[in-house]
Amino acid sequence: MSARQLVLRQRAELLRALCCGGSSEGLESVLDLLLSRGMLFWEDYQNVRVPGRTLCANTRVLLDLVYTKGDETCRLLLAAFKQVLPEAQRAGLSFGNCRTADIENTRDDTKELHGTAIQTLQTDRPGLVRRLRDRIEGALEVLLHTGSFTPSDCDEVQLPLYTPSQQARRLLDQVRSKGEPAAKVLLQYFQQTEDHPSPSIQEAPPKECLSYQKKLRSTVSAQSHFLSTYGGTSSLSLEDIYTEVQLELAQGGSEAQPQTGALGLEDVVGLVGTLNQEADTVLVSGEAGSGKSTLLQRLHLLWARGAALHDFFLLFPFSCRRLSSEQRELSLRELLFLHCCWPDGDQDRIFQFILDHPHLILFTFDGLDELMQSFSDSEQRHCCPTQCAPVPTLLFNLLQGSLMKGVVTSRPEAVGPNLKRYLRKELLLKGFSPGGIDCFVRKHHRDPTVATRVLESLRSNTALLGLCHIPVFCWIVSKCYKELLGCGEGEASPQTITDVYLMILQHFFQRRASQRNTMGIGWVQEHQDTALHLGQLAMEGLGASCYVFTGTELQKCGVTEEDICMGFLIRSKDLSSSTNCKHYEFLHITMQCFFAALYIVLNNNLDRSTIPKLFQLQDRQPQPGFHRMCLGHCLIQQEGALKEANTAAETPNLQITATFVSGLLSQRHRSLLLLSCPGPTLDRKSKQVVTCLSKGMQKHFKSIPRPVEGEKKSMHAMPGFVWLIKCIHEMQDSRIARDTMAKLEVEHLKLTYCNIGPVECTALAYVLQHLRNPVGLQLDYNYVGDVGVEQLLPCLHVCHSVYLRHNNISDEGIRKLIEKGIQCEHFQKIALFNNKLTDACTECFAHLLKMKQNFLSLRLGNNNITAAGAGQLAEGLRFNRSLQFLGLWGNKIGDKGAEAIANALKDSQTLVWLSLVDNGVGSAGACALAPLIKNSTLEELWLTKNCITRTGVECLILALESNTSVKAVWLRGNELSPEEVEEMTQREPRLTF
Ligand code: ADP
Repeated sequence: MSARQLVLRQRAELLRALCCGGSSEGLESVLDLLLSRGMLFWEDYQNVRVPGRTLCANTRVLLDLVYTKGDETCRLLLAAFKQVLPEAQRAGLSFGNCRTADIENTRDDTKELHGTAIQTLQTDRPGLVRRLRDRIEGALEVLLHTGSFTPSDCDEVQLPLYTPSQQARRLLDQVRSKGEPAAKVLLQYFQQTEDHPSPSIQEAPPKECLSYQKKLRSTVSAQSHFLSTYGGTSSLSLEDIYTEVQLELAQGGSEAQPQTGALGLEDVVGLVGTLNQEADTVLVSGEAGSGKSTLLQRLHLLWARGAALHDFFLLFPFSCRRLSSEQRELSLRELLFLHCCWPDGDQDRIFQFILDHPHLILFTFDGLDELMQSFSDSEQRHCCPTQCAPVPTLLFNLLQGSLMKGVVTSRPEAVGPNLKRYLRKELLLKGFSPGGIDCFVRKHHRDPTVATRVLESLRSNTALLGLCHIPVFCWIVSKCYKELLGCGEGEASPQTITDVYLMILQHFFQRRASQRNTMGIGWVQEHQDTALHLGQLAMEGLGASCYVFTGTELQKCGVTEEDICMGFLIRSKDLSSSTNCKHYEFLHITMQCFFAALYIVLNNNLDRSTIPKLFQLQDRQPQPGFHRMCLGHCLIQQEGALKEANTAAETPNLQITATFVSGLLSQRHRSLLLLSCPGPTLDRKSKQVVTCLSKGMQKHFKSIPRPVEGEKKSMHAMPGFVWLIKCIHEMQDSRIARDTMAKLEVEHLKLTYCNIGPVECTALAYVLQHLRNPVGLQLDYNYVGDVGVEQLLPCLHVCHSVYLRHNNISDEGIRKLIEKGIQCEHFQKIALFNNKLTDACTECFAHLLKMKQNFLSLRLGNNNITAAGAGQLAEGLRFNRSLQFLGLWGNKIGDKGAEAIANALKDSQTLVWLSLVDNGVGSAGACALAPLIKNSTLEELWLTKNCITRTGVECLILALESNTSVKAVWLRGNELSPEEVEEMTQREPRLTF
């Protein structure tokens, strides 16, 4: 079959393969390749990549275009797809006889094309994008310095919604539009920076080192080939199942910092986001199950296969969980050789090589939170690589960068200011994007019909869809798809995290039972012994910060071979495998928490104070020994001595356990547990939980300060508030939610920087919808995203204001929010500063403004709205009679947009505050805004950082002459000389420069 026919026949599949991840990276890479091979003209490229149009629509245009260009272009398109798509997404596609080599640009066959610098940029485009990714800032600096770019060109390239690769492409596109001189400057910049290449080996490494590298690569490759959740039982390898996760730069608390676009794996060790050039440690932090270990594992595998981290000759992966059980004092040399890979050759030479080339060595430490000691830099600096020291001391010294480079993962709790000082940068892991969920499910289910059914079922259950944004939940839901599809829609379908874990519990039990063919409705009772054995092990482990268990520890808790075979426990991986003793751990830490919760609920002899103590956790500062007191009766005795330390993971683990306890003791699971537990005991425990939750909430409410006169009564969530909300949500009892919320009387609820994602949004909405009076809900600086926005809809009717600054929200999410908001009487204000909004959402705001004549404040700063969007917005403004505040700071509306807005608002009798700061507005825009000053109630007009000249300001001055309401017009950072500024301030003191 010809390539053209292949493209036509597989149109739907090609479209899906390129779009299923939701990221435009695939399409853009294909375009790069086709451009570089001259298969697309520049005009074609511009017709395909239309900003604001959906990814699918752009891809369709490309497929049409390529089809019309004939067989050769189609052949190269297929080759480009083959090169760009990850293996799993290629599955099922037919590429005929196309090879990836067909699309790769060999410099020789394009030599004659290298006429101009612009042509070089095009023919070398794929490589240039890769090389530019880490150097955007440097390149922009040079372009700015040489006058090739203006500051606004630079802003355009660095728009927060772009990934580093996309920024690189936008930079190349801009350079092209500037012409040959700019292209020359960029090429020169490459030449100069590459004369000083990044660190690499100057001389060939000794033979022993090469063979050590080979051995290490093969060990690491074998270790990282399968995910433990798939290991052995499945044909899916990490390669097949790995799905991109959302990585973000931590903002370091700075409000001014723009939202950075999604980052890729390469950015973990790349230059992007470097905060401290001196430091060598990168931190990736995220909640349990967000995919930290998997991300590292993926990096390990790519390194082992030579597919990434090319700058590193050796990579040493460590698990803090396993390092915690290392009692001996070790030297760096022993740490590397014993724990990672034993050298066959001359150890001295290999170790010397490592010491001589620290920049070529990368360490990874997974799960710092599970280390038996929190990070401290007060220990003596340990700089001698051959001297023995306790393992934590070695590790902390490595993290401080006094020995080598490292990547470390951790849950946020373990990351204190002490460690932050030594970080080169910090990345936050935010789980799957909506497109990522889709992609993961399709990879997990090779049968597309099953995948589609699972996705349909998820889409019909928004609570579950929200949960799936956390990879570990997504994995469970995919694994238990039969149970999921079997329970239909509505109430019976899983709603909470507890429901999801009960589903996998049933799934694993069922798997064993089906071999014996017995599995009744009393399935928990049937497997009660297993649940109690594993529960005791889990609980004792949590109390002692123990996550890896020996056979003896299993025996002590009565865990049998059969219990092990259920699949909840797995054999621990250990790179060194130096001991013959088998070690076990739970499939995932959340599974250990779930079993601990099961133990608390199912054990009829439990100390009555266990539940209250579990819920009082939030009151105490973590201190060594406390949790052992709390769960005192279930301590692990290790070789006769109590373990002295506890880990940073302990409090969050016990919080997760408490969340499961709340869920298990909810009324909806009562009948399931009644067969295993006497009703009165269950009722007593359930009452205890409700009392704890209610008391916990009261404490938070009591901490609300009295309002200062004239200010709103507002509550800033303290640590533990969101956790309590999640526990209430697990109980799925609206009476409990109503009762606990009845006593909250605030006008403003502040939950900024609270790590709120879609899962938390579901719980918040569930609980807050019972508020008696409307509140302002401030969720700035979280990671709500489009999925989270959808989860919030049930509580929108009790929100008079919604603040969602910096939350990774796109047009799609906002459309749903506004659709619902229009129907909510109280909804009057929204702030969306620093999200991913484009012109595609302005129509819905226009509709909102038309429909809601009590709407007061619309703030859309630092998004990507252009003149077209402003024009659409104006359509709504024209009909609105209530809006007081309009903020468009940091968009790109230009003169045209300013004119449209001014026109629409000129008769407004309500507008008090308008900001068009940093929008490329010139004098024409300023003159258009002047009538607004004349006629309206306006008090402040912000026009800072634009390009207004004297002409524009004259118009404003004239308008101000007949106005008394305006208090200030802000004009700093426009195109005026100091003399002009001086003169104009004299004439009109309300102008503020
Ligand atoms: P964490 O280390 O943050 O607790 P893990 O990396 O252990 O989380 O992830 C838990 C499970 O979620 C994994 O075993 C795997 O099944 C699934 N998972 C996590 N990240 C990914 C990913 N990027 N692609 C596919 N599956 C993932």
